[in-house]
Amino acid sequence: MRTFQKTHAIVSLWVFCGLFLIFAIFLVIFAFFRGADDSTFASNEIPLHYLELDENYVDQDTLPLEMGNVSEAVNMISQDETRSLFQGSCPAGTSNFTYTLFHVNSQISLGSYIPPRLVEIPASIETLYPPLCLQYEVAQQLLMMNDTINDAGHRLVVTSGFRDPWIQDILHAKSQKNSPTQSHASVAPPQHSEHQLGTTIDVTSFEKGGYVRRIDFENSTMYAWLSRHAHEYGFIQSYMQGQESVTGYIAEPWHFRYVGVSIATDVKKSELSLNEYLANDLFLENI
Ligand SMILES: [Zn+2]
Repeated sequence: MRTFQKTHAIVSLWVFCGLFLIFAIFLVIFAFFRGADDSTFASNEIPLHYLELDENYVDQDTLPLEMGNVSEAVNMISQDETRSLFQGSCPAGTSNFTYTLFHVNSQISLGSYIPPRLVEIPASIETLYPPLCLQYEVAQQLLMMNDTINDAGHRLVVTSGFRDPWIQDILHAKSQKNSPTQSHASVAPPQHSEHQLGTTIDVTSFEKGGYVRRIDFENSTMYAWLSRHAHEYGFIQSYMQGQESVTGYIAEPWHFRYVGVSIATDVKKSELSLNEYLANDLFLENI
């Protein structure tokens, strides 16, 4: 009888342990997918907002003439082989000058400027939509930063680089249509974007089994890394939280501009927005 009770107790213990293990595995799987659903998306569901263009936002009247109509444009971007029409192979420069420190803003225009020496960013840097173009020197600095990020066990993903004024025109129209009354802009008007300089990137990262959504990027591991280290490679966040009334833009933790290591470091130490800093020649003379 005692032997039976002992055996029964051992079996019950094993059954309990087994059920507990199954429950624990279920919890881990649930937490993983819940985490991925909340803040990330998978590679097979890359949202078009990373190209920042879809049929809900594109306005017929704002399409560049060469695009024809909205459905034609949307059809194009829904096919991989034609996405290159939007990102394009890198265009030739319209100037011999590199305006790395130009303080372009909502008042100051770049006109039709396209910087010299635009190159496709190296293949070892992950992107959502290849090819992306940057100025040669900036691409080299990004490559160095990306290597360090990879060594630290993180995965940076670049979602935007150089943008033509006419692509900016579409993005701006989309933004106006989507949020016509917002007090601070989220997209610069055409000819007023830092992306036109060929020195500026938008990024996300691959974490918790998916790409981090833009709305969650501020709380990502990658953003924490970039906040601490991007200036060491010459990159600085242009539009910071708390500076919205000065910059005119919402805080954009995903948007980094290359200005060189010494200026990026100096801006980071200052209380100023990047644009205020670049607008003041006194600061630049001290570099
Ligand atoms: Zn940007």
